[in-house]
Amino acid sequence: MRFEELNLIEPLLRAVRDEGYTEPTPIQEQAIGPLLSGRDMLGCAQTGTGKTAAFALPILQKLAADKGMTGPRKLRVLVLAPTRELAAQINESFQVYGKHTGVASAVIFGGVGQEPQVRAIRRGVDVLVATPGRLLDLMGQGLVKLNTVDTLVLDEADRMLDMGFVRDVRKIVATVPTQRQTLLFSATMAPDVQELAEDLLRNPIRVSVTPSATTVDRIVQSVYHVTTSDKRPLLEELLRDPKVERALVFTRTKHGADKVVKNLDKAGIEALAIHGNKSQNARTRALDRFKSGETRVLIATDIAARGIDVDGVSHVINHDLPNIPDSYVHRIGRTARAGADGIAISFCDAEERPYLRDIEKLIRKAVPVVKGHAFEANGAREVAPAPRQAQPQARRPQSSQRQAQGRPQQPRSQAPQSRSTQRPAQEPRRDDRRPATSQPPAAPRRSRHENRPPQAAARPAPVADRGTAPPQERIARDWW
Ligand code: AMP
Repeated sequence: MRFEELNLIEPLLRAVRDEGYTEPTPIQEQAIGPLLSGRDMLGCAQTGTGKTAAFALPILQKLAADKGMTGPRKLRVLVLAPTRELAAQINESFQVYGKHTGVASAVIFGGVGQEPQVRAIRRGVDVLVATPGRLLDLMGQGLVKLNTVDTLVLDEADRMLDMGFVRDVRKIVATVPTQRQTLLFSATMAPDVQELAEDLLRNPIRVSVTPSATTVDRIVQSVYHVTTSDKRPLLEELLRDPKVERALVFTRTKHGADKVVKNLDKAGIEALAIHGNKSQNARTRALDRFKSGETRVLIATDIAARGIDVDGVSHVINHDLPNIPDSYVHRIGRTARAGADGIAISFCDAEERPYLRDIEKLIRKAVPVVKGHAFEANGAREVAPAPRQAQPQARRPQSSQRQAQGRPQQPRSQAPQSRSTQRPAQEPRRDDRRPATSQPPAAPRRSRHENRPPQAAARPAPVADRGTAPPQERIARDWW
């Protein structure tokens, strides 16, 4: 299908051409028509599928059609997003796709001064992209009113709920007129997301481009069983491989992220960290350097990485496995963006083995184990993979120009190769292997629930805009 077949107006088609998009991605194909006709939508899609354009293009078209109407600009569209990075990115997309339409948008999020954001709103905007905390704050000060909004988008609703924003979201939605078009996007359709969708959407069309919790099938996944202390040299070794063009490394905690940066620095490998303890400016700087390629390695926590949309992330490395299996799917989705291939490598120490099992259950396949590497921990063979089941066929974005951008071309791994033949590209050379380190038995010392800080795992706290978090949230915030 071509964009021209989607009944989009010329100024939008031009913007899409300017971006180099040749054909719509599956979610764009499915969503744009119904959204243009005013339907509500429940979208099950991760970032990387082209979902922002799927909702931004029809919204812009609706606004552009009404541009002939006289009078001052009114706030017509509200987009809620869980994190600052995602909010900024969505706003950027509205500006890119809407550059020939005269539609004005602005973004508001916490962690930075409110004045420039307030000035932008005062100048008049059609579209406001916001994180819930800062929006409520400005609404409380009487600086933002939502009574003219006729289109509401909730992006990454699952993460918004995970971050404990449900009450804020409901408070905000209560002030938006009920006569509206509502769109809700989520990477997974957990029961609480479905409940919210049932309350907010009216007879929605449902689109799903990646069946919930199915791992993106173009990503070549592997796991290294290592001791905690060997994660450091293993990471250094992997990052020395020039095939790692751009790596996003995940740690479970902010402190862990800083530690990895420090250790890499000692090893002469430049890396930056992005997490909730960094100022917004530091986060933006780190992300910009990573995007421009000045910094090849970015260390991130789950929340900070939400919505990171960087082309050419060749590798996602899970320095620590997440204790929430959904997060694994979100993390590895940072590579293989918009139709390209990618590589996801996970380190798994003895305590993380239950997490690996949970992940394998969720993605319904075993993550191939890298064997015979220099840091192999004893007991790797004892890991029982989750039983293999038929992998539901995920629809992928159509081929795009991005595929031609020199990503490592990995074979597609529809089903894991047999363990004994699995040899990821990053495997250390035979001649510099050292004997495998010994490792206590595979049984973890604590259960995964005991490993969690109280409630934090179930409801990670926002890194966004809450100045006065209750004690429970402060605990969780520190964890993330
Ligand atoms: P999203 O899922 O909205 O985060 O989009 C992921 C990436 O796909 C972004 O970098 C977009 O610029 C890109 N993208 C969106 N639509 C298309 C398309 N039709 N063809 C190629 N790339 C696209």
